[in-house]
Amino acid sequence: MRLSLFTSLLAASLISFSALAGIHQAPPNFDYDGGKAIFVDFETAHYAITYDVTQKKAWVVSEINFTLPENGHPIYDLISVPESETIDGKATTSTEVSDPDRQSKVRVLDQELTAGKHTLIVRHRLTEGVSFKRGSLASAFWMSDLTDRDYLEQYLPSSFEYDQVAMTMHVEVRDSAGKTYQLRANGKITQTNGTVFDITFPNFYTTSSVFFHLLPSNSVPSSSVIYKSIDGRDIPVEAYTKLNAPEFSARAVQVLTELEKDYGPFPHEKVIIYGTAKGTGGMEYCGATISSLSAVGHELFHSYNARGVMPAQGNSGWIDEAMSSWRDYDYVQTLTPGAATQMAGHSKWMRLTDRNAYGKGKDFLAWIAGRMNERGQSLKLFLRDYFQKNVYTTMTTELFQDSLERYSGMDLQSDFNQYIYGKRGPGASMQQAQEKDSAVPPNPFHPRLTRQQVRALLWPN
Ligand SMILES: [Zn+2]
Repeated sequence: MRLSLFTSLLAASLISFSALAGIHQAPPNFDYDGGKAIFVDFETAHYAITYDVTQKKAWVVSEINFTLPENGHPIYDLISVPESETIDGKATTSTEVSDPDRQSKVRVLDQELTAGKHTLIVRHRLTEGVSFKRGSLASAFWMSDLTDRDYLEQYLPSSFEYDQVAMTMHVEVRDSAGKTYQLRANGKITQTNGTVFDITFPNFYTTSSVFFHLLPSNSVPSSSVIYKSIDGRDIPVEAYTKLNAPEFSARAVQVLTELEKDYGPFPHEKVIIYGTAKGTGGMEYCGATISSLSAVGHELFHSYNARGVMPAQGNSGWIDEAMSSWRDYDYVQTLTPGAATQMAGHSKWMRLTDRNAYGKGKDFLAWIAGRMNERGQSLKLFLRDYFQKNVYTTMTTELFQDSLERYSGMDLQSDFNQYIYGKRGPGASMQQAQEKDSAVPPNPFHPRLTRQQVRALLWPN
């Protein structure tokens, strides 16, 4: 039963995404330059990434096929300024633009296009996530859900969280002085030789999914084990770290056993763990994590929430941090509500997760769990059902609330209004004010790393 459900979901996810899957979850289009800026649907993205070790340079040529749902200026994102852009074979340009609520920035093509299918080619220098040291190279695409524009757009031309994209990469290291490289990524890797790699990622991935870490061969100890899934699959688990790699892989197996027992088959084909020092917390990717030993449980649970069922926008990020934090706190139950928040009541263009998710989000789930328990129900059993029904899809707070209400039979509208949306009562206007970072204590699983600290994690230390 579990096997067939998982297999059919997997097959469905591989073959049947409609061209406009998820586009209805995009933020609103907005007026731009006398016309309209339009969120688009990426269908395929191919990234050719070249590193030149001698010249200490890296560049990317990206080919993106997308559908523009209505006439206007297509929106995508890339923080770097492109060296060149072409649309349908003709040279074009783009401009970095703030959204109408000034919550974030996006890249908008200067040219207006007609609705339909188009091909964008972008060439840019890759400078973030690349480090050349003593004739060697390290490169990684680290991300964070807690900072604006901190997903794939830091490194590559990308769409947004609502958009599921069939992504492929061709990776080449040139002038490597005989050195070979090892690429770790959460896709299917074909290695031509020690410097040339191709990756095909599952096509349910979004801009938050990709794990990518390129290092000189044998530069870090690793521990590989096979985890036998409850559905019969052999799932390769690799932990690599200068700390105790076998300790990380053993912890992963322990967590996988717990999570599969609670929530069903692990929804990814492999597990990669980049083990980092105590206090560095972690970050989740699909079937992968950069994590301290103590955060492995929190981060691997994110392979079900956040990177199995995936947030479609900033206003849905809280769901996953609330779930992973609820597990961190041993699935505590209460019969009293926590504090009011507007975790899902921010601007529709906001792209980061409200940090209240960890504490107040967890408190909200604990309260739902307590009330379900009184009705002879279980929030954990709901989650098991929710993950299996929604795996490989993008999620909004509205859909999550709807799932929870259907399962429990409870009317949660006024609770969501008060504790999640920050609406004080019927018709009350929503405050757009964002919680200041300093107002929310740090979460032990997601400490706030500086750019410098993140850069340092390119090289295992
Ligand atoms: Zn988390």
